[in-house]
Amino acid sequence: MARAASKKTSKKSSPNRNPKFVYAFGKKTDGNANMRELLGGKGANLAEMASIGLPVPPGFTISTEVCTYFYEHGRQYPKSLEKDVKSAIASIESQLKKGFGGRSNPLLVSVRSGARDSMPGMMDTILNLGLNDETVEGLAEVSGNSRFAWDCYRRFIQMYGDVVMGVQARTEEEEDPFHVILEKLKKRAGVSVDSDLTSGNLRELVNRYKALILKRTRSAFPQDVMEQLWGAVGAVFGSWKNERAILYRQQYGIPAEWGTAVNIQAMVFGNAGETSATGVAFTRDPANGEKVFYGEYLINAQGEDVVAGVRTPQPISHLATSMPKSFKGLEQVRSKLERHFKDMQDFEFTIENGRLFILQTRHGKRTGLAAVRIAVEMQRERLMNQETALLKIPAESIDSLLVPVFDPKALKAAIVIAKGLPAGPGAATGRIAFTAATAEIETRKGNKVVLCRTETSPDDLKGMLHSQGILTSRGGVSSHAALVARQLGKVCVCGAGDISINYEKRTLTAGKVVLNEGDYISIDGSTGAIYKGLIESADSEVKRVLEGSLRPKSSYTYELFQTVMKWADKHRSLKIRTNADTPGMAQQAVAFGAEGIGLCRTEHMFFDGDRIDYMRQMILAVDEVQRRAALKKLLPFQRKDFVGLFKAMNGRPVTIRLLDPPLHEFLPHDDVVRRQLAEKLGVPFDFVIDRIKALHEENPMLGCRGCRLGILYPEITEMQTRAIFEAAAQIIRGKSKVKVNPEIMIPLVGFREELADQLRTVHRIAQEVMKSRKVKINYTVGTMVEVPRAAITADEIAQEADFFSFGTNDLTQTTLGLSRDDMGLFYDEYQRKEIYSQNPFASLDQTGVGKIMEFAVDSGRSAKKDLKLGICGEHAGDPSSIDFCHRLGLNYVSCSPPRVPIARLAAAQAKLRNR
Ligand code: PEP
Ligand code: MG
Repeated sequence: MARAASKKTSKKSSPNRNPKFVYAFGKKTDGNANMRELLGGKGANLAEMASIGLPVPPGFTISTEVCTYFYEHGRQYPKSLEKDVKSAIASIESQLKKGFGGRSNPLLVSVRSGARDSMPGMMDTILNLGLNDETVEGLAEVSGNSRFAWDCYRRFIQMYGDVVMGVQARTEEEEDPFHVILEKLKKRAGVSVDSDLTSGNLRELVNRYKALILKRTRSAFPQDVMEQLWGAVGAVFGSWKNERAILYRQQYGIPAEWGTAVNIQAMVFGNAGETSATGVAFTRDPANGEKVFYGEYLINAQGEDVVAGVRTPQPISHLATSMPKSFKGLEQVRSKLERHFKDMQDFEFTIENGRLFILQTRHGKRTGLAAVRIAVEMQRERLMNQETALLKIPAESIDSLLVPVFDPKALKAAIVIAKGLPAGPGAATGRIAFTAATAEIETRKGNKVVLCRTETSPDDLKGMLHSQGILTSRGGVSSHAALVARQLGKVCVCGAGDISINYEKRTLTAGKVVLNEGDYISIDGSTGAIYKGLIESADSEVKRVLEGSLRPKSSYTYELFQTVMKWADKHRSLKIRTNADTPGMAQQAVAFGAEGIGLCRTEHMFFDGDRIDYMRQMILAVDEVQRRAALKKLLPFQRKDFVGLFKAMNGRPVTIRLLDPPLHEFLPHDDVVRRQLAEKLGVPFDFVIDRIKALHEENPMLGCRGCRLGILYPEITEMQTRAIFEAAAQIIRGKSKVKVNPEIMIPLVGFREELADQLRTVHRIAQEVMKSRKVKINYTVGTMVEVPRAAITADEIAQEADFFSFGTNDLTQTTLGLSRDDMGLFYDEYQRKEIYSQNPFASLDQTGVGKIMEFAVDSGRSAKKDLKLGICGEHAGDPSSIDFCHRLGLNYVSCSPPRVPIARLAAAQAKLRNR
């Protein structure tokens, strides 16, 4: 058997009799960085940092196995958990000499999620847990800072009220109710920033928050700290199945069964006063990959203030002057983390009264451009070898080196209305949408939008996915908007303080310029510039170099691109072909590195100019004579097209598929055009109508298409074959040194005899042309495997075929019994229920369709050892499907021209991953 495909959903072992659910970090550390499956990324890295001596506040991780248990047992916990958690809390208490729920020196903890792959902002977090009406007084006394204690308490109630008790904005337009109360109080107190509120103000805020919770939930805010803790743990596990986490998992192919861990850690306080701060830092610039210390911080604040964009933070470099000792410590942490984890890290820190703590580290999310630059430069710095560097670049991210930028000429005339922070590079232009819902509605109508928000929250994810770019007026480069945009590869400008957004009036104001929802706006995520109106975009530097309009030496981006592509080509064994129907597409694909055409859909050649008329004449023909007359007119067009394709591919293999779709797809649908057609062809209107009726099919996808056309009308196969061989002969006999390598492919075969029938025609015409033109043309004939019967009888069909190409669009359609054009009605629900982990037409259903392919590979090769195998469905451009094809032992994948670079990289990664 070919090597079976296993998806990356490794199953966790089921809890044994003496299960360990709680893993400590701190003085004693149970875990390490390799235990991501069990401890989640955050828990595993906290353990690792604690063991290499970084200043990590003590805590413990409840494993992902508990999450699985929680969902399998109606949201209950394993019996031993309560006892384990109690003793883990006791251990923190003794390490810090603090008491959880104690009045004199209270221990406060944070409760955070942490999945195997980080899912920033998608699940819930609670800080300052352990405060109540009594411990807040204790905290005030022990810190000597009552303002600080009450600030922590109001933050805790706000977070707990929102996350655990569900007190939230009830519509997208409504502001967060806690935020409304806070803003009112600030107004009354005459202060503009939170940190100017007095201890008295904060006490009042606490009372108001408690009243809000009671009013909304009819329950009082809990005073018992253990009750608080279990409430928070339940909420974090519960957030694994919230809508945005599900959406995120869909987007990144994260299996639902992985579950999240929960991390409980002693709080340290960045809001303890002016010598305290909190921040987020990246060891390199996550937007462009440059090796600079990048990040930001806020004095006298807690972590969520930075991420939520409540105040716009200071760039990290300012810390060198405001807290030089801590900055030096941070620089050391930066280099230690990179050297230890051997990748760009994104870490959170807190400075409490001048003392530095590290709260988490993870491989930093980065833009595609940054991913490439960091991998290449880290390889040059010998932090990683070439193989590791290749595996570090998500294959899709190559695309961001190829996407358009603003057209330089159009940019000169454009009006800059404001500037923000460049947070996700590239050029985006579209209509303003102020809500995620509007963004979705507009894109469904076919409009391009830029989502403009004061700040984004995880609920905006869907809107962000639908947008060309994201613009926010608040929040820094590590705000939610920036993080998520970078990850999605979206253009992003954030923290544009000069613009103000009014959701009620649906306006965006920048100085004197007022823009309404629906107006065009353009943003440059590489410079932070915001422009009024629509700006045309231009090709990327890489594309300009490939086309010869930019010198390779003038573009560092091109150098990076070339380096990665060279590495990829050295390591891959899959060949990369392209699906192209015109010489222009073929040339583009060759420039991107395509090694042949794996699918030329000949039907795409019939739509241009007069050909469609001859095509229609052929379809309307009532007998063979009429049909041959029309085909004769089509022949020169086809021949010319093939000459162009062969020339563009210069000896590389060109797989030409004979006509595939149902014929009536070519006929006009409305009566005006039908009437014009009748006039053009000199036939009565009624004749056209009658023929259209006669050709009607209930299920055209399963009707007279594919090889059935050529079997029914052999003259079509004859004409197409003649065009191919005459084109080849013309080139061979011509003066140019161009070589030809045609491969003829028969579509939708399910029976050996279907292929044999078409082969007879192909070989006969090929012989005729070669004889009459006195040339020898080497060619092969193969078939698509795109219906289950072809796969099941692959050993029989292989005896007729030189090659198989998996048409996984149709193979998915016919295997799943699911129309490739009609998923719309139920697909959203299937996604919501996580029935499909991915769209099966975008990423191969490896366990279903994949099994059939595996069978066909084995069966086909058992009959013909050297049978060439490829794939030309859309899946051929999808990295995880490419990995699968590599494991199946295919010879090539054939994808659309722009995806060729992605496929080259994905093929190399597949080889390296499956060494
Ligand atoms: C396929 O079915 O996968 C294929 C490539 O053919 P088409 O998409 O043209 O039906
Ligand atoms: Mg098909």
